[in-house]
Amino acid sequence: LTAEEEQARRKAENTMTELWYFLESQLNKIEKNLDKAHVSSLRRNLEGYRRTMLEDFEQLRAANKANEWRLEKSKELGDLVQRRFEYLQNPVDCKKAKKVVCNLHKGCGFGCQLHHIAYCLIAGYAMERTLILESKGWRYSPKGWESVFQPLSKTCTEAGSRSRKPWGSSQKDMDKYLAIDLPIVDSLHPRPDFMPLSVPEDLAEELSTFHGDPAVWWIGQVITYLLRMQPDIEKDVLNTGKKMGFKNTIVGLHVRRTDKINLEAAYHSIEEYMSHVKEFYDQLERKHPNIARRVYLATDDANVLPDAKLKYPGYTFISDITISQSAGLGTRYTDSSLRGVIIDIYYLARCDFLVCTFSSQVCRVAYEVMQTLHGDASKYFRSLDDVFYYGGQNAHDLRIIEAHQSDGDNVMEIQPGDRVGIAGNHWDGYSKGTNRRTGVSGLFPSYKAENPVIGVKMPTYPDVPR
Ligand code: GDP
Repeated sequence: LTAEEEQARRKAENTMTELWYFLESQLNKIEKNLDKAHVSSLRRNLEGYRRTMLEDFEQLRAANKANEWRLEKSKELGDLVQRRFEYLQNPVDCKKAKKVVCNLHKGCGFGCQLHHIAYCLIAGYAMERTLILESKGWRYSPKGWESVFQPLSKTCTEAGSRSRKPWGSSQKDMDKYLAIDLPIVDSLHPRPDFMPLSVPEDLAEELSTFHGDPAVWWIGQVITYLLRMQPDIEKDVLNTGKKMGFKNTIVGLHVRRTDKINLEAAYHSIEEYMSHVKEFYDQLERKHPNIARRVYLATDDANVLPDAKLKYPGYTFISDITISQSAGLGTRYTDSSLRGVIIDIYYLARCDFLVCTFSSQVCRVAYEVMQTLHGDASKYFRSLDDVFYYGGQNAHDLRIIEAHQSDGDNVMEIQPGDRVGIAGNHWDGYSKGTNRRTGVSGLFPSYKAENPVIGVKMPTYPDVPR
C-alpha cells in the first residue's frame, strides 16, 4: 500500500471517530435540556463533519490514481462489449444467421422506445441472435431508425419471412427457427433470466471491481451501441453544444413535467431540484473556491428555464431550448422533438452529476450512458423519486447485510441474508420493500442492504479477441 492510501484511510477513520465523540456529548446535553438553538447549532456542526467526510471519501476514491484506473477498466471492458455487439450484428452469412426481430410500433416516447430496442439487443446478445430492427413508419422519423442513427448492421437487416416464430414457444422449439419476433416487454412470457438487472456472467466479476452498479453500466453499453449517430446528426449535436457553451464542470438538471405529471409522476418544484445542485457546488467549492455554477437544463416544459434563471441568478443555465428554436431542423429530422431529446440525452450524459426524477426514461437513459463515459459514475445522481429501474426488469431484490428489529409499527424486521424486493428509497435513510422470507412489507434502514450483482450465463463470444 502507498502512503497516500494509508493516510487517506486514517484520515477518514479519524473523522468518523471524532464525529462520534462529538455526537455522543451533544446527545447527552440535548437529553438534559432540549432547546431549539442547541439543535440548530448541532445541525451546523454535523454539516461540517459531513462535508469533511465526503471529502475524505473522495480522497480515498482517488488515492493511488484509482480514478484513472477505473476509467481505463471501464473503457477497456466497454470496448470489448462494443466489439461483441459489432460481431453479433454483422454475421458473415445473413441468410443462415439466427435473428431476433423487433419493431418500433411501441406507442411511447423516445426514451421508452430506446429501452424497448435495448431489451431486444440484450435478448439478441443473450441468445447469440442478430437483432433485426423493423423501423419503417417510425413515429419520430417515418423513413426509419437509420435516418438518424447508424444501422444496427452493415450486413444483415432483413429477417425474411420463412422460418419465423413469435417468442413464447418452448426454448427447444424456438431453436429450430431462424427468426424470433420479440413482443414489447410487457407481454414477454416466459420471462428470460437475461433481462435487466442481470449482467453477462463472464463480465460480472471484473465489472463489479471498478463499478458500483454493473447493471446500469451494462445497459449503458447497449444504449451506446444503439445511439451511434449518423455523421450529419452528430455534427449538428456537437455544433449545438458549442453554441450553447456546454462545458464541464456542469450539473445536469432534467425537469420532466407536462403529460407525465399526476399520471406517472408527482410535481417537483424547481427549488427542490436546485437544492441538490446547490449541495453539489457547495461541496465542490471547498476545494475550488471560485467555481462557476453551471447547470445544463433539459426539460419538456418551456416555463422552467425562465423561472430558474429568475430565481437562481448565481447559476449559469445552459440549454438547447433557445438554440433549437432558432436553428430549425437538421436535414434529416422530420420531427423537432426528436432532435431536442437526442441533444438533451447526449449532454445530460456528459454532465458531472445528474439531478432528475428516475421515473423518467429520458433521465434514466442519460444516467445509463453516463456510466460508459466515467470509471464509476453510479453515485453521480440524485433522483427525486424512484430508485433506478429498467421497465420490464426481473424482480429487483436487495440483499440484507445487517439485522434490524421491527419497531412494531412501520419498520420491519430484517436478518442478514434476507432478500427484500425493493419498492423505493425514501431518501431519508429508509427504504421500503417486501421481505421475501417473512412476507412482510415495510421500511428498513437503507444502509443495511446491498444491491447484489446478478451474473447470468450468456455467450462469451470467443471469436472476439480482448
Ligand atoms: P418519460 O415519459 O419521461 O419516461 O420518457 P419518454 O422518452 O418515454 O417520453 C417522454 C418524451 O417527452 C420524450 O421522448 C421527449 O419527446 C419529451 N421529453 C421529455 N423530457 C425531455 C427533455 O428534457 N428534452 C426534450 N427535448 N424532450 C423531452
